[in-house]
Amino acid sequence: MSYKATLIPGDGIGPEVTEAALICLDALGVDFEWDKKSAGKNALEKYGNLLPQDTIDSIRKNKIALKGPITTPVGKGFRSVNVAIRHMLDLYVCLRPVKSFSLPKVFHKNIDIVVMRENTEDLYAGVEFPPNGIDTNKVIETINSFSEKKIASDSALSIKPISESASKRIFEFAFSYAQKNNRKKVTCVHKANIMKYTDGLFLKTFYETAKKFEGKITVKDVIVDNLAMQLIMRPQHFDILVLPNLYGDIISDLGAGLIGGLGLAAGANIGDDIAVFEPTHGSAPKYAGLSKVNPVATILSASLMLRYLGEAAKADILEEAVKEVVEEGIKVTYDLKPRRDDPTAVSTREMAETIASKIKERVNNK
Ligand code: NAD
Repeated sequence: MSYKATLIPGDGIGPEVTEAALICLDALGVDFEWDKKSAGKNALEKYGNLLPQDTIDSIRKNKIALKGPITTPVGKGFRSVNVAIRHMLDLYVCLRPVKSFSLPKVFHKNIDIVVMRENTEDLYAGVEFPPNGIDTNKVIETINSFSEKKIASDSALSIKPISESASKRIFEFAFSYAQKNNRKKVTCVHKANIMKYTDGLFLKTFYETAKKFEGKITVKDVIVDNLAMQLIMRPQHFDILVLPNLYGDIISDLGAGLIGGLGLAAGANIGDDIAVFEPTHGSAPKYAGLSKVNPVATILSASLMLRYLGEAAKADILEEAVKEVVEEGIKVTYDLKPRRDDPTAVSTREMAETIASKIKERVNNK
């Protein structure tokens, strides 16, 4: 079967890591018809637009995309092209697995967590007011007229909306995912002790949604600062974590750190019928064009895409091959070596080709 999908190489290290993922998908023999599109710096240079309509149209049509990271432009219209793509396509779940490899420099073994971050609301909703703006002053005056606590007149504001509807859909996604993937526990992460209305609503909606799944899955909640400590002490204690946008962003990077760094952390942005797969890391501009960075985060994002498409057997082969190469520690990029200046570190492409050859061995032995 052939799949039509959009490919967005992105900028910075994006083109190198997406090419690496394609090398591995080719080795698996899954047939993709890629519609290659631009976004970010490359699109700005070529079309004068950071996020061409054509790119969004292609994702809408194909319903799946593999995407490299995109540099956030400073002062050029979008807060972030990545956040804009998630908002425009209503990709409300950011799913990031935190699964450990057996690596000497990684402290914990047997971590197997899935972080699910709400992608559309919270402080990332983009409702912000600069200091001393005319609108800002009006908003501050209005709030001050209703609230006992007063906001200083020279404040900047970022609004934190959290709705019942958006919270409900991510919890439903999380519980259904848990059922389909034989996961045992879903934990809601919040700070409802302080933010009683916003995080309070998130927490309340969690327990209401959980009623439908009663008896099948353990439900827990944890305050985000406590979670940060517990993840460092005993990450094996957690299974699926569901978080509002900002905590989700931070905790996913903490998760990446637990398993050996951003170079290993895959991700997917999922909506009702569209999904965009991309690594957790950014465009790491200082490494752009050097073929130096770790391609695994993007290769494992491609594996999430295969699972989403129902190609679980192929995803298993891909993940086994990645695990073997990463844990051997020989043909790996600098970040997986004991020292970052290790002269035996290989290029992005060589690591991808090593994984691809392990994939081919497995495919041929089936
Ligand atoms: P970054 O993730 O790009 O890089 C931070 C550091 O992490 C790098 O300097 C490098 O040491 C390490 N790193 C990242 N990816 C790696 C890899 N594959 N292999 C090995 N090491 C790796 O974060 P940043 O420097 O804060 O952000 C750079 C740009 O990327 C910013 O413009 C940011 O907004 C953007 N960004 C984009 C996305 C996305 O496209 N989804 C996500 C995060 C950041």
